[in-house]
Amino acid sequence: MSDSPFVHLLKPLDLGSVRLRNRVLMGSMHTGFEDTAADYPKLAAYFRERAGAGLIVTGGIAPNRRGWLSPFAGKLSARTELPRHRLVTEAVRAEGGHICMQILHAGRYAHHPFSVAPSAIRAPINRYTPSALTARAVTKQIDDFVATAVLAQEAGYHGVEIMGSEGYLINQFLVSRTNRRSDEWGGSYENRMRFPLEIVRRTRLSVGPDFILIFRLSMLDLVEGGSEWSEVVELARGLEQAGASLLNTGIGWHEARVPTISTRVPRAAFVWVTERLAPHVQIPLIATNRINDPAVAEQVLKSGAIAMVSMARPFLADAEFVQKAASGRADEINHCIACNQACLDRVFTGKIVRCLVNPRAGRELELNYTRVSSPRRIAVIGAGPAGLSCATVAAERGHHVTLYEAEPDIGGQFNLAKRVPGKEEFYATLQYYRRRLQTLNVTMRLNTRASALDLQAAGFDQVVLATGVLPRRASIVGSHDPRVVSYNEVLAGNIELGRRVVVLGAGGIGFDVAEYLSQADGHAPSVDIDRFTSEWGIDTAFSTRGGLASVTPSAASAKRQVWLLQRKRTPIGRSLGKSTGWAHRLSLRRRGVQFMSGVVYEGFDANGLTIRVNDRTQSLNADHYVLCIGQESQRELLPALKALQIVPHIIGGAREAGELDAERAIREGAELAATL
Ligand code: NAP
Ligand code: SF4
Repeated sequence: MSDSPFVHLLKPLDLGSVRLRNRVLMGSMHTGFEDTAADYPKLAAYFRERAGAGLIVTGGIAPNRRGWLSPFAGKLSARTELPRHRLVTEAVRAEGGHICMQILHAGRYAHHPFSVAPSAIRAPINRYTPSALTARAVTKQIDDFVATAVLAQEAGYHGVEIMGSEGYLINQFLVSRTNRRSDEWGGSYENRMRFPLEIVRRTRLSVGPDFILIFRLSMLDLVEGGSEWSEVVELARGLEQAGASLLNTGIGWHEARVPTISTRVPRAAFVWVTERLAPHVQIPLIATNRINDPAVAEQVLKSGAIAMVSMARPFLADAEFVQKAASGRADEINHCIACNQACLDRVFTGKIVRCLVNPRAGRELELNYTRVSSPRRIAVIGAGPAGLSCATVAAERGHHVTLYEAEPDIGGQFNLAKRVPGKEEFYATLQYYRRRLQTLNVTMRLNTRASALDLQAAGFDQVVLATGVLPRRASIVGSHDPRVVSYNEVLAGNIELGRRVVVLGAGGIGFDVAEYLSQADGHAPSVDIDRFTSEWGIDTAFSTRGGLASVTPSAASAKRQVWLLQRKRTPIGRSLGKSTGWAHRLSLRRRGVQFMSGVVYEGFDANGLTIRVNDRTQSLNADHYVLCIGQESQRELLPALKALQIVPHIIGGAREAGELDAERAIREGAELAATL
């Protein structure tokens, strides 16, 4: 191991009674399985595959009904609920792993009418107003935290994580923004922090010295009226004294208007906060947020100030993250691209978690890539997301796969997406597939437009059409004008655009193009921590409460004047992901991008684009007009194949262009390959 580039990452961590086999914490993330007793076998299978992490923390489990995130969410408050949890702990223990259960009380973030909080103040992201807890009910919540920890111990967990961050109940006690009480639980900071300290002190007394007790401490609230730095330090010290074994980092309340984990956040952008706390406590600290690569994690751990790194989504993307890093196969890791599309955006709408880059995540019992006994010869046409996924899974199962691609390189639409500021992680996805094609010995035919006759002559057993999409052509009068261009030419870098640009179509691609066009020169904030913190007003000096500085609109430094248009009358960007759409809209607005909805396109002429909005006609005179008006399936090979009686499987955009995204393309590729 000493030769490994990840010496610090792979070093065991001795917690006294427990020795963790490496410094990777698989951070808490709600999967949706926690909420239904019948889904615990699936949860157990999900964690079993991820037991290579030094320590796993489950998704949040409520200590009582009041603390439910939503009605009938996961809870552990009765002995009858123990058997389902034992499935999980036994699965992880069978693999030699360690697992803690997170206790999460939602407080005013609960999506039900029985929510409680220190004061009856509604959260800006919730429609329910909580009831203020009576002093007696405050004590009852503490009792319930303690009782749940004791039950978790009985269920076989190695410890618990007490969720004290992201704006949930414990956080709500800590700051006067949400705690207006005048009794012993409010007012002075000493009173406001009594709630978490009592939970930790009494839990430690009840579970004994050997049970792991992690506290997730909100080190940077990123909301007005959040904790100030001296309070964070005081609380950390108090928690250490009260019996916490580890302090995990929490960044930003859910209601914060600063992105904290999405793809527009640079890797390891918040590690500085945890490092800042290091000199103030003796117990090990865990750094978190946008750490998705072993080299980045190693860098974080190198100085010794931080003992562990937390990664949640990276374990969805690749269950074997640690094993690959440990066995010299780090270049085979499937990186989490921080899109939130298939994980958080689904979980926030009550669905089971999935992963855009790994279709097996959350489906460990149903989608398996078993070896075939009689390998077949399979041709996959198109090396975009669907084709790459299909070719690699089919090859993994033992088939002989040939992958045809008309372009000189693999990637398809990924090659456009990776050029969008904030989507640089797609480079890692492409690298992953490149390596995978190599290790699985997929025969590559780049620069090759496969013909039906070629495919017939080669005598393949199966043909898979994954030829993707083409940009939709506009039926707007005058759209043959040379100033009218398509998004693919723009993102491919084939066109030098002027300073005034109109984007037609405000779907995911319209937003991406507006992002691409309006950024200032230089590194994108998504790959430059200083630019990111200044763009979003993060006060790294921590001279303000919550670490929030004021944001200066950056319209003046934007590279271009951009208009973003759509025909629908709905607000622009409504279809974007729940967890990321607001940041997309906000950053474009700050860069001066003009949103217009309810637009009727009358046509292009010498004066530019004539539009009608609310019965008023006007002209937008720009240097260029970029069409982002959707796609059509590319299936030109189909008639010739049919004529030769070759019936191909059709996947991804070639099958259906509407609502296509990389998640569906990759999933369809894998699902088909699992059945071939
Ligand atoms: P899209 O989301 O369908 O948006 C295209 C927009 O063009 C439509 O919303 C429509 O809006 C407009 N349009 C459609 N037909 C038109 C026509 N004939 N003339 C003029 N306007 C027309 O498609 P997309 O933006 O091309 O994205 C493709 C897929 O990739 C989508 O599923 C998207 O979710 C996904 N994607 C996601 C992200 C992300 O960040 N999550 C990023 C990129 C792409 P109006 O009719 O209202 O104008
Ligand atoms: Fe990461 Fe996206 Fe997968 Fe979520 S869906 S784990 S953000 S790659």
